[in-house]
Amino acid sequence: MAHIVTQPCVGCRYTDCVVVCPVECFYEGEKMLYIHPEECIDCEACVAECPVEAIFHEDNVPEEWKNYIEMNAEMASQSKVITEKKKPLAES
Ligand code: SF4
Ligand code: SF4
Repeated sequence: MAHIVTQPCVGCRYTDCVVVCPVECFYEGEKMLYIHPEECIDCEACVAECPVEAIFHEDNVPEEWKNYIEMNAEMASQSKVITEKKKPLAES
């Protein structure tokens, strides 16, 4: 089980979420972040930090975003870990 980053994260990347993660399991894609499902310990700390409510427990991902479950697993393993807050995409 793990937490999943979904569609609202696309283009946002406030990255408030990454600083609270105790196991540093966020990875940086080109347009959004991904959570590595084998590293996430389901602490839920990141859920409240996300201003656009993009993060869900795997069991609670809305139907239309179920494809993000596989996408997080696939993309996290190909991306670079991100542990520090970055400037939002729109400002960079
Ligand atoms: S805070 Fe939310 S929208 Fe921003 S990078 Fe994290 S998951 Fe994505
Ligand atoms: S639920 Fe906890 S361990 Fe999983 S990504 Fe969020 S902060 Fe990290």
